[in-house]
Parts: sequence; structure tokens; C-alpha cells
Amino acid sequence: RVASARPYSNGPLLPPTYERLYNKYAEVRRVLGAQRLTLAEKILYSHLDNVEESLLSNTNNGRDIRANASLKLRPDRVNMQDASAQMALLQFMSCNLPQTAIPASIHCDHLIVGERGADDDLSAGIKTNQEVFDFLESASKKYGIDFWPPGAGIIHQTVLENYALPGLMMLGTDSHSPNAGGLCTITIGVGGADAVEALVGAPWELKAPKIMGVRLTGKLSDWVSPKDLILHLAGLLTVRGGTGYIVEYFGPGVETLSLTGMATACNMGAEIGATTSIFPYTEASSRYLKATRREQASRTAEVFQNFPGAGAAEDAFFKFKADEGAQYDELIEIDLSKLEPHINGPFTPDLATPLSQFKKTVQEQQWPEKLSAGLIGSCTNSSYEDMTRVESIVREAEKAGLKPKADFYITPGSEQIRATLERDGTLETFTDAGGIVLSNACGPCIGQWKRHDGVEKGTSNAILTSYNRNFRGRNDGNPETMNFLASPEIVTAMAYAGSTTFNPMTDSLTTPSGAEFRFPAPHGLEGPQTPFEQGKEAFAVASQPPNPSIQVAISPSSERLALLEPFDPFPTSDLSGLRVLVKVSGKCTTDTISAAGPWLKYKGHLANISANTLNTAVNAETGEVNAAYDLDGSRSTIPELGLKWKHRGQAWLVVAEHNYGEGSAREHAALQPRYLGARVIVCKSFARIHETNLKKQGVVPLTFADQADYDRVGAGDEVATVGLYDMLRNGGVGEVSLRVTKRATGEEIVVPVKHAVSEDQARFILAGSALNLLAKGG
Ligand code: SF4
Repeated sequence: RVASARPYSNGPLLPPTYERLYNKYAEVRRVLGAQRLTLAEKILYSHLDNVEESLLSNTNNGRDIRANASLKLRPDRVNMQDASAQMALLQFMSCNLPQTAIPASIHCDHLIVGERGADDDLSAGIKTNQEVFDFLESASKKYGIDFWPPGAGIIHQTVLENYALPGLMMLGTDSHSPNAGGLCTITIGVGGADAVEALVGAPWELKAPKIMGVRLTGKLSDWVSPKDLILHLAGLLTVRGGTGYIVEYFGPGVETLSLTGMATACNMGAEIGATTSIFPYTEASSRYLKATRREQASRTAEVFQNFPGAGAAEDAFFKFKADEGAQYDELIEIDLSKLEPHINGPFTPDLATPLSQFKKTVQEQQWPEKLSAGLIGSCTNSSYEDMTRVESIVREAEKAGLKPKADFYITPGSEQIRATLERDGTLETFTDAGGIVLSNACGPCIGQWKRHDGVEKGTSNAILTSYNRNFRGRNDGNPETMNFLASPEIVTAMAYAGSTTFNPMTDSLTTPSGAEFRFPAPHGLEGPQTPFEQGKEAFAVASQPPNPSIQVAISPSSERLALLEPFDPFPTSDLSGLRVLVKVSGKCTTDTISAAGPWLKYKGHLANISANTLNTAVNAETGEVNAAYDLDGSRSTIPELGLKWKHRGQAWLVVAEHNYGEGSAREHAALQPRYLGARVIVCKSFARIHETNLKKQGVVPLTFADQADYDRVGAGDEVATVGLYDMLRNGGVGEVSLRVTKRATGEEIVVPVKHAVSEDQARFILAGSALNLLAKGG
């Protein structure tokens, strides 16, 4: 059937963003005809700089785009959090432009320590970080960027409430930016260098992702929440299972989920390494837009979804969902009715245990049975639905005379949600129960947690959080703290028991009067009955046109901020005389390469933050943490040796195992090694964002063609590249190997390696960094 082709100009007026989207989508349809597209493809391809060039080059006439085409994309906006924004802005400033080419926002959320409660913590945080906030605010004013001050909220919640709109494409300088996929946007977590490309108006390049379909049927039962969907999926797929994919949810089960529940699932798509995740536009999306005072957007979205793309078949309508019969590269079916609550951890988000098995697992693994703290909220799980479901649990426990046995912390994701929960009495219920409401900021989720419960560093203990990530040391800097991830309602019920072996679905607690108390199933409201409160004026966004007369505030004597010096370009030959600084074993996440917590304060000062480089990496040859050996056998920390070699002019490389750089978009994990003299990282496999970040900073990421070669290269070995320079000059085409001279024996071996360097990335590497190229107008 052919739909009545309705030219755009005859339809109701659409705002410019949708007009652009419509025109691009019509072009996509012209190039691809009636090819069935997934939702993710529709949105992504409708943001191409040059539709025809991207979709037809490297593909079989547009038939095998995924994993082949190199997409040059024009995102609609960029969102940055305060820790990563510093380096992004420092890089943007090097390009000497008067304003950002597309809208952008900065969110001050990562630098506030959670300790005693919102007011005290916020004023202490502002005092400690004033210099950084002044820098971010002045740069926002100068370049016309929206500035969300400390206390306004966590980036992903604020973006969901204010900027996410169905069909948009955004970049965020944070790995959990895909949170906005809950509202049918394509939002990709990137490093600052990628953000700068978009901010200067250059197209942003991405290898066309494969699409993993997750078909949902059924409906979640009482104790189960959307968090359990993603905890279960993480267990199925592992932390690498989503690499190279966009996860697209579809099927009748989608219609049963709240908008914020969909956002939670998308947020934690980062935990399986997915490029991003997305849900279709549903009735819940429309309700959320209205509740967040965006009725107009909801009307526009509804009009737009019935617009046909260039008069093609009915399948060409945008619809904010996949075309009937669209094919997925992988398909997973999940019956929501059969899901049970999950608890994931410790130390990795993919170690999933169904609640019914958790007690047995705790006992078998001899994990601590005492629960030290329960922490709920954050960007992942602080929605109205989450909090009112928790409230129902707290109210029942209070009625029975119970108090949480473990410390209980609540982090609202934004001022809007905090003020609404305060208005509706939910926060009071928590504080009456002894809960501590922290500021609207990341706090304990990113190592900014000062504990006062006497748990010393190095002591094994268990905490439960409704956050998204649980790498070692992430929350309190104690590598022995076992962080288990669960839904807010499970965290809360278990905090009342103070035990990791308590199953709130089946077990009882004893009340002060000696009675048995069993938690009834939680219940809550999807959203408030009247629209969200906007909260305190002091936390409102400052939106302003660019003002070139503003001086960006950086003191030359600052220990926290320093202007950037350009990196040196690639030599005009292959690399030779490199040395292996360290060979690391096991997980090497971006937290391992560039720790957060107290180091967050040096995010804008490359030299100072580099003193943490790889400081929790395990030396594969000695088993020690943060130990490296110079060629004369003297021992130092890894960053100390890196700095020593930098001063000596000794370029180096790191040898590592799988999924190197897993975790976040933290570009410091690429910048710091580069600053200290790394030219190459060679490992068994890379996490996607980090691999891109390395190339942007001029470090060459290589993987072993034969993974067994990991065992043949050791610390101190001398390495020369063969074919690398030619490959770079040929725009990423060509074979590369490493000629390794063993330090101990002088024996020479050849190690074949693989690379994934595109034409543009080859240009970055040759120029020394992407920024060098952009600053030259390249
Ligand atoms: Fe902040 Fe944690 Fe969310 Fe990252 S994951 S934005 S640190 S709350």
C-alpha cells in the first residue's frame, strides 16, 4: 500500500528541529527506498551530515550499513557534566571560536561530596570547588551554554526532564548519557574531544552500530521494576555483550513501562557496553512530557510521528518506532511477567543473581551478611515512581515500628524531582525514618562519599545501591566495599533488615512488639498528580546568548585548571624505541586508568591529575597494584615511572587484556597516558568509547591478532611498529605489526596486531590529536 504522500509544507508547522529531522528522514528514504528500518536507524541516519555519502560508501548500495558504514553525524545538542566539561571546554577554547555551533549545557553534579545531608554538603561542595564552578559559569556565559549550577541536579535526570525529545540526537560527556533513550532519543556518551567536534560544528563520526533488538512481552509483577530488566540483561550479556550495538527495545511489553523506567534501562545499557539504548515513543512518553511541562513537545511529537518520509510506502512513516519486519542483528526475548528482582555484584554489574538465590550465594561466597548501608536514587533511579514505591515500603515499616538497621541515603536526581517529592511529603517520610537526603548531585555514586559509620578503608563490608555501576572502590574509595546493585525498593527493604541474606518477598522481620512483619509488595505512582515542581530559584538554569566580552576565569597559579598545550604530531616514520611501561592483568576500566573520588578535583589540570594514571592497575608480572619497574630494576608507581620516562624522552606503551577502558567516557583515561608519553596501547580488546578517545588524543589502540601473544610481550620490552605509519598515511588502510625485542634475552619476535582506525582518525593521529587538527581548521 502506498500512503498518501503529504508534503511537509501542508502539515501543521513543526519547530525547526523537527523540520530538519523531517527533511533528513525524507532524504534517507529517498536513498534507502522502502528498506525496513529500526527506530535507532531512523533517528541516527536522519542526523547524517551527508546522507548519500554515508549510507552508500562502504556498503552494498545501502544494504549492509550496520558495522560497515562510517556515519558522519550532526547531533542536535551536547550535554556536559562538570568533571568532564572542564577538559571539553579547555579543548574548545583552544579552537578560538566565539560560541558553540550547536546548543549545549553544563551540569554541576560530580563534585559535591555526600556526607551529612543536602544543605551542608552543598555549601561545603561549592566552597571547595568554587574555582571550577566559576570557570564553568564564565565559559558558559562567554560561549552561550546553558549553565545548571551545583544543586540543580544530575546531568541525566536534568537532560531527561528538559532537553530530551523524541527523535533527537544528543552527545553527552558521560557514559550514562543514553539515559535519555527512555524518551526516544539517540544519546551517546562520548569524551570531551568528541564533544568539541560537535561544538565547533564538525560532523561527528561513528561506525554504524549493529542493532540488538530486545523484544518485551508481559508485564512486570509487584516486586519487579525496570531496574530488574536491565540487571537481568546485564547478567545475560555481560559487560562486553552490547559492544558495537545499539540496544533497541520493542514489543508489547514496552507499553507497560513508565517513561522513567525506560530511562533506567537505557541508563544502564552503558553497563553492557552498548553504544546507546532506545525505547519507542509510547503513551507513557507523552504523559511524561506533559508532567514535565512540555505539552507542546508532546503535541509536536504526536504530529510528527504520522509524517511520511518522501511519499514512500506506509513503512516509511517515522512513527517513533521500528518499521514492521525490521531486522535486528541479535534478538533477545524477555517476558517481563517472568522476571524476578535481581541483585548484581559485587565489583561488576554483570554478576547477576536472582533475589531468590541471593542468600545462598552470599553464604557460599562468604560475602558479608551484614549490610552496612542502603543508598537509593542517583541519575539511575530517583524517579517519582521509584521514590513513591520506596515510600510505600517505608510507610509500612514505620507503621510496624521498624527503623532501617543499615544507614539509609537518598539522592534525588534533580531539583525538580526533589522539590516535587518534598511537596508531596515523600522526603519527609524518608527523613522521619532516619534516612539522610543528600544533595541533588552524584555524591556516593562517584566516590564522593564520606562515611561516618566506622568502616575503615581496607575493611570488607557490603552496601546495596540503586546506582548503575559497582566497580571496586567506586563509592567510598575502599576497594573492599562490596557494592551490590538492586532496585530502590529492594535496597530499602534490605536496609530495614540490615542484612544481605534477607529476601523481602519471602522473609519476615520482627517488630519491637515481637510480631512478625512481612513487607507488602511496593506500589507507587508513575508521576505526580500535578505537574512537577520547579524547585528553588537558586538552582534554575542560566540560559544566555554568548557574550564575547566575558573573561574565562582561570588563575595562572591554579592547581585545578590549566590551559592545554598541544601534543606533538606523529613522527614522519614508524615508531621505534618504545618501551612497555607496564603489562596489566584483569579488568582495566577507566576508573583504573584515571581514578575518580578525590582526583575529580584535578579534572581541569592535566599535569596534576596524571599522577593517578593506572594507579589501581594490577601488574601482570608481579601481581602488585600500581607497581612498575624501570629498566634498571628500580620500583616505582606506574604514574611515577611514566613521568620519569616522559622527562627522559622515553615513549612507551601499555599491554593489557580484555575490554581495556571499560566503563565510562572519561577522556582523561586517554589524555593522561598521552601526556605522560604513551603512543600505543595494545590489548586483547577495547571498550568502544575508550578506543575512540585514545585515537582522538593521538594514542594508537591496537589489539593482538592472536590473543596468546599477550603472554609473549612483557614490561621493559622494546617495541617498534611496522606498517603503522603507512597505514595512517593510507587513511587507516594497511596491516600493522609490532617488532618486539625482549628485554631479558634480546630475542626479537614479530607480533601481528589489528586496528580499527578510520580515515578521519588516521588524520587525528598524524596531527597529534583531533584537537590539533580542529585548531588548524582540519
Ligand atoms: Fe553521576 Fe553516578 Fe549518574 Fe554518573 S552514574 S552521572 S556519577 S549519579
